[in-house]
Amino acid sequence: MNSGMMQAQNNAAPVAKRPLLEVNDLKKHFPIRSGFLSGISAYVYAVDGVSFSIDKGETLSLVGESGCGKSTVGRTILRLIEPTAGQVLLDGQRIDDLPASQLRPLRRRMQVVFQDPFSSLNPRLRVRDILAEPITNFGLASGKADVDARVAELLDKVRLPRDAMKRYPHEFSGGQRQRIGIARALAPGADLIICDEAVSALDVSVKAQIVNLLSDLQDELGLSLLFISHDLAIVEHITHRVAVMYLGKIVEVAEKRALFSAPKHPYTEALLSAVPLPDPTAKRERVILTGDVPSPIKPPPGCRFHTRCPHAFDRCRIDEPPLKAIAPGHLAACHLHDAGVMRTTPAAALV
Ligand code: SF4
Repeated sequence: MNSGMMQAQNNAAPVAKRPLLEVNDLKKHFPIRSGFLSGISAYVYAVDGVSFSIDKGETLSLVGESGCGKSTVGRTILRLIEPTAGQVLLDGQRIDDLPASQLRPLRRRMQVVFQDPFSSLNPRLRVRDILAEPITNFGLASGKADVDARVAELLDKVRLPRDAMKRYPHEFSGGQRQRIGIARALAPGADLIICDEAVSALDVSVKAQIVNLLSDLQDELGLSLLFISHDLAIVEHITHRVAVMYLGKIVEVAEKRALFSAPKHPYTEALLSAVPLPDPTAKRERVILTGDVPSPIKPPPGCRFHTRCPHAFDRCRIDEPPLKAIAPGHLAACHLHDAGVMRTTPAAALV
């Protein structure tokens, strides 16, 4: 290479790394009708302005209590349900507004693993045919021998014996069925996998095995994972970053280490305080949240968490806090981080 070319390369502006998935101000509002023929009487604000991105080879976990909208985010990204507003980009291409015919080839790149593999695997098909379906649907193999070879390779990847291809889903344990679910997600060559409570129904030791498998597959194949879970203890083992959702909105996003060691939102503090410590004799301050999660049909004004927040003050009931950077890569939506605001209530108890 001549020196001129080297000079030109050295002076070139760094190429910005584009995330694999970008979600911008995503909304999903479900209409409610009071009768069969009546008009819309209200909306369920299930997802109400959610933004995040996932890099290639990265895991982002979306956590929060049941009903916070995290699974709806996953299904809306996949277009299993249509978004009300916002944008979803895969590798820089908008996919939220694509017609079905143009979306189809991109579906190959985005796959899902659901919580209950038994209900998501066709009980009448052998494993070979379950895994062959996406391969043939997307035209990824020619002829039976080629399909069989690919199915065998997938079973190797998820560490199931090759003779599994002759058996039916009911012949496997829950953990093995989830491995089949993961193999099916890998079958079309996906680079983004949405794991929707994918390990929640499994025993603790099986959970750990599946989480290890997902991590190994990520290293091997460079997968990006959106890991949707209510279980922060398991999230800690798999994720790079965490986004915390409450009542349809993200309230905190950070690298795993920063979020687990120094959460910046009172809701995250409460969630983390409920995670069991590895040492059963150790004590931690437990934040007990009082009150129920408000209805997503009529979210509270101001900060949506104010009805349960131990630190809420007058402004929280009126002004909605924006999600903003508190530290590099660490965003939180809470007025406590504004200049001059002091916490008034510790509201924590040793348990
Ligand atoms: Fe609590 Fe107010 Fe912060 Fe909301 S803005 S989390 S109510 S302190």
